[in-house]
Amino acid sequence: MSTVLSQTTGIVLSHRDHREADRWYSVFTPDRGKVEFLARGGHKPLAKLTPHLEMVAVVELMLVHGRAYQIVAGVERRRAFARIYDDLQKLTLAQNGLHLVDIGTREQEADPHLFELLVSWLSFLNDQASMTTERAGFLLGAFALKLMALIGYRPELALCLSCRAVIVEAQYRWHALKGGVVCQACVARDQEQWFAARAMGDGTLKLLRLGLEEPFVVHLRPHLLGVDLAGFHEALESLMISHFPTIPASSLRAACAV
Ligand SMILES: [Zn+2]
Repeated sequence: MSTVLSQTTGIVLSHRDHREADRWYSVFTPDRGKVEFLARGGHKPLAKLTPHLEMVAVVELMLVHGRAYQIVAGVERRRAFARIYDDLQKLTLAQNGLHLVDIGTREQEADPHLFELLVSWLSFLNDQASMTTERAGFLLGAFALKLMALIGYRPELALCLSCRAVIVEAQYRWHALKGGVVCQACVARDQEQWFAARAMGDGTLKLLRLGLEEPFVVHLRPHLLGVDLAGFHEALESLMISHFPTIPASSLRAACAV
């Protein structure tokens, strides 16, 4: 039997036990997207590999392509985000980000931008001091928005979904299933089509735009009003329920309340 060796850079997203001694890993790579591989407890002692595979880090993997699946033959840590472990909240944010990428992507769909997003998320958290639960919730929401945009569900936040007119303050509604904002005039013109459109505050729309467009460091700045943040999470969760490939088991808000 011939085997092929390959080397790839990646960030481990998740792992699960397989039989007694083996473990499956899911890793996100810039050139091959999400890749799954097996670490075997029998051949190479799993204990030697796991510290590298189960830390939040960029790793260099040596994979052996077998007939049915890939097996890891070696791991080297390229970049550790060790300070994420200083704070339970940072670790929770990092793990939730990894989980969202894991459930939001399919195997073998290369996406270098998504890999960059993940690296920027982890390095931001690594450098960050602890923050309030509200700020953490806003940041995780912003990560989810950027992720959705990259996997093909970028919400429309600037122009009316229907007539493409520029959205004016207080003159629009939100439609999660259609993926964005619609102007009042269009809602009035065709009430049947826009029946499910909901009211949205300007502060909420501002947070959505900020989360989608600006880098994470900018998300530390705005004052977060409770009503705007609640609207932000409601809009985001309705978007995820409508479009995300797998609905996360817990809400993003709940995830941050550590
Ligand atoms: Zn319109």
